[in-house]
Order: sequence, then structure tokens, then C-alpha cells
Amino acid sequence: MAVTDIKNLTLEELEKELAGIGARPFSAKQIFEWMYRKSVFDFDHMTNLSKDIRAHIKSAHTAALDRCEKKIPSSDKTVKYLYRLDDSRFIESVHIRAGDRDTLCVSSQVGCRFRCAFCASGMKGFIRNLSAAEILNQVLYLKTAENRKITNYVFMGMGEPLDNYDNVLRAIGLMNSPDALNIGIRNITLSTCGLVPGIKKLMDSGIKVNLSVSLHAARDDLRNRLVPVNRKYPLAALYESCSDYFKKTGRLVTLEYVLLENVNDAPKDAYALARASKKINAKINLILYNPVKGLSFGRPSSSRASVFISKIRETGAKVTLRESRGSEIMAACGQLCLAGTK
Ligand code: SAH
Repeated sequence: MAVTDIKNLTLEELEKELAGIGARPFSAKQIFEWMYRKSVFDFDHMTNLSKDIRAHIKSAHTAALDRCEKKIPSSDKTVKYLYRLDDSRFIESVHIRAGDRDTLCVSSQVGCRFRCAFCASGMKGFIRNLSAAEILNQVLYLKTAENRKITNYVFMGMGEPLDNYDNVLRAIGLMNSPDALNIGIRNITLSTCGLVPGIKKLMDSGIKVNLSVSLHAARDDLRNRLVPVNRKYPLAALYESCSDYFKKTGRLVTLEYVLLENVNDAPKDAYALARASKKINAKINLILYNPVKGLSFGRPSSSRASVFISKIRETGAKVTLRESRGSEIMAACGQLCLAGTK
């Protein structure tokens, strides 16, 4: 039998497995408590487990966290964590501190297959999905290694979460479960480049996670170039799924929009974006482009960005400008790439 990370299992699955060796379901609860409450990941230190249970668990599972290879701080207090996975691939998480918010930006895949024109994560293509345990490990490392309490979790690191639907949903389930990490679902945000079937599946799953959609253009011809998956799921279908998401979950969808100088930042683009957001009842979050080596996009001047925002505000649409953090350590939005392969 292959040895698997025990953090891939839900409580029910572990109870069932332990029942198979004649153990009481309570043992599964005890193991969950060690890992998710007490941050103990060595089975030998789980002192209330019987010898037999421990022997079984050790033969079937691992629990250790992934090794944090590097911790790179920046002067704005953003910290990038670089983890080495079991197969020696690397992933990154970013801890962003702003005011009373402590946000952890987690990765869901090694690489990315969607190749958005301005993003570093897809430049070298897709390598593999992360397991639920590898996603949770990013959360657990912060909990055990740092004293700060994370207030918000965002699936905005490397990868496309809806392209790794099952593992991401499993990880979110464990983050949210009172038996595991007990993180409020309102504190978890999933961001997608617009995989319409995934958005539908998500709203039907019953897990009311916050949804962000990386829009970046409110016209199909431009979005086809910037976010190529738009050729498969064009704006009309994407808007419909966002609108349904709001109706079904009651959660306001956020439209993410990276301002690219002279590409999507003209007043007419602002009006188109505002119209879309009002039609589907979404709020807009603008991000200034963070430079990526090898790409020739530019970041608009702050006066150009202000005009863009004011055009949106004129219409009454809800808009914020996200302060970009971490760019000096290449940890800002869109700058995470396949480290170790450069
Ligand atoms: N694949 C998902 C999750 C990644 S989230 C998604 O696309 O939503 C990362 C966010 O940063 C996305 O909104 C993405 O479009 C944005 N982004 C990518 N490259 C960027 C860059 N160079 N500057 C600023 N934001 C960028």
C-alpha cells in the first residue's frame, strides 16, 4: 500500500479507515486534534494513541509539513515562503500584512496551464496539481512557525484553483471544518481566471467561499488576448455564472482587473467594466500591473489610474484599488513562478 499524507483525509475518511483495523472513531478525532489544534505532526508524539493504532498509522501515512526552504522578507512586511515538495518541486506562499488584516496567499498548482499574457505563473507551463495536504501545509506552516494570526486566506498564489477542483475543495473543507482548522468560510477567497464549469460546480457544492474572478478586460476581443481561456468561456457565459454565484450563495463576487498601460486602462474600458459589474452585482478590485521579467506591459501612472477609478465611480459601481505588496521580492500578484527552475 502506498504511504499517503494523512492530511488528505477528512475526519470521516480517517474514522472509516481506523474502523477497518478495529479502532474506535474517537482515535481519528484525537489525531485531528494533535495536528490541527496542537500542531503536532509526528505520530510518535501523539501520546494518547494506542500502540496498535500508531503502528498502523505510521505504516500507512505521513504527516510532516513540507520543508520551508527559504523565507524572504520585504521592507513592506510581506514575506514570501518557498517550500520544497516531496518530489523536489517548489511552491510559494505569500504572507501580506496590511493594517489589521493578515492575508495568506496560497498556491494550488505547480505552474499553471492558462498562460494569461501578463502573469509569470503560466510562463513555464503546468507541472502538476497540489494535493489537499500540500495546500494545507502552507496554512499549517504559518500557524506553527509564526505567531501572527492569519485573518484571510486567498487562493491567489501559483496555479488555477478550479483546475484542481477536488483537491482545492478538500483543502477548503478541512480549513473550514470545526474538527480541523475551523477557519470561517467568509475568510477564504478562491480566485479563478474564469473556468465557467468550475464556478457552477462550486456554487452547487454548498461551500459558500468568496469568489474572485480575474477579468482584466470587459470586451471579448481584448480578453481573448489577455486571458486566453476566454476563447473557451467568453464573457457572456462568465457573467452569467458570476451572477448565478451571487444569487445562489449570497456572496458578492469580486472582479479583479489588472491595469495595463494603454492596453485596458482607457475611460471606455472603465465604463465597460463598470457596466459589467453592475449587471452582475459584483464589486471591482483594481490592481496596478506588477512588472514581470520578459514581458513588455507597463504600469499606468497614478494619474491615469485615478481617472480610470473616477470613471467607474461616476457610474455608482463599487471599486477599490488594491495596494500592491511584495513586489520588491517578486511576491506580488502575478509574480510567482516556478522557482528553482529558473
Ligand atoms: N489562476 C487564478 C489564481 C491566481 S490569482 C486566477 O487567475 O485568478 C493571481 C491574481 O493576480 C490574478 O487576478 C491575476 O490575474 C493577477 N495577476 C497576474 N499577473 C499579474 C501582474 N503581473 N500584476 C498584477 N496582477 C497580476
